[in-house]
Amino acid sequence: MQFKDIVGQEQVKQRLIKSVKDGRMPHAQLFTGPEGTGKLALAIAYAQYISCQKKGDDDSCGACPSCHKFMKLIHPDLHFVFPIVLSEKKSDGDDDKGPSGKLSDAFLIQWREVLLSNPYITETDWYQMIGAENKQGIIGTTESSDVIRKLSLKSYESDYKTMIIWLPERMNQSAANKLLKLIEEPPVNTIFLLISENPTQLLKTILSRTQIIKVPPIHRESIAIALVDRYQINPAKANELSRVSNGSFQKAISLISAETDTQFFALFRQLMRCCYANDVLGLLDWVNEMTSLGREQQKEMLTESLRLLRESLMLNLDLEDISYLAGEEVDFGKKFSPFINRTNIYQIFNEFNLAIDHISRNGNPNIIFTDMSMKLIKLINKNP
Ligand SMILES: [Zn+2]
Repeated sequence: MQFKDIVGQEQVKQRLIKSVKDGRMPHAQLFTGPEGTGKLALAIAYAQYISCQKKGDDDSCGACPSCHKFMKLIHPDLHFVFPIVLSEKKSDGDDDKGPSGKLSDAFLIQWREVLLSNPYITETDWYQMIGAENKQGIIGTTESSDVIRKLSLKSYESDYKTMIIWLPERMNQSAANKLLKLIEEPPVNTIFLLISENPTQLLKTILSRTQIIKVPPIHRESIAIALVDRYQINPAKANELSRVSNGSFQKAISLISAETDTQFFALFRQLMRCCYANDVLGLLDWVNEMTSLGREQQKEMLTESLRLLRESLMLNLDLEDISYLAGEEVDFGKKFSPFINRTNIYQIFNEFNLAIDHISRNGNPNIIFTDMSMKLIKLINKNP
């Protein structure tokens, strides 16, 4: 993770960079601020900058062996601790030991995957990823013992070891006490970066021994620019989303995905209605709308359509229990499902898959969608 990958937060970045240039990195720092503002991302970028072998004035180089490992989050001197939950079946119920005595490390592969795809992850998102919705994760005592063990080792490749603790407020009492001891008598060349959304829940003694780095809501303009650059959102829409997102990039991203889901569903419904009404002019409008999307979005819409078709088939086969349509989709699915049946479904799937394939190979979208919709008209009106 480089500083340039992080949306806005220029002042925080400058402050962190300056601490490295001046050689005055506090050994325990606490990043606090609202959800979705990039605290975790900033801590990782900071650790990467500290360890980079060819630091620039404003960022790590992104190319040295150390940066390479940081960008995959596999540098041996970068350690993570984060709250975890195990499913009830596996848990031994002894919270004090941490869930089943398990450590964050057991979830490290998922953790890396999640962070690399979205470093703005929220606590709720994380629990969902590890299949523990509606539960509260904890950082148990075994975890702190493991931290002590890891930090007692010499650093492998860097001058510094970095221990990033995400949501230290989830530590139980004894874990927090062990952490306090570590911060009071830190192992040599070790930097603790604590990322907290509720610092008031931390031990006062921990708070008083850390340097506080306040991470404010992200400026609206920075969010809007990032939405245009990274998600190809048109500037007017990006402005609107950045206003509603209240300084949280995570919120802005989730607003986009909710909007695209609705947009894709609307396009799918339009396509299917035109097909079963034999409305060729309507289909040409649909083709125009599809053509105006970017290639990636066209593929996503087709993939989403495959899902909706599969679910509609389930309804048609009276397998309602295993159909996962939600909200508006259910009503539409019920009306539409009679048109999807065993005789046409394979050919319909095939047409969508062919279109995905042709779009991926840079075919002409106008031709691909016109061709596909004309074939669908025939298939949808083919009765069993
Ligand atoms: Zn580097």
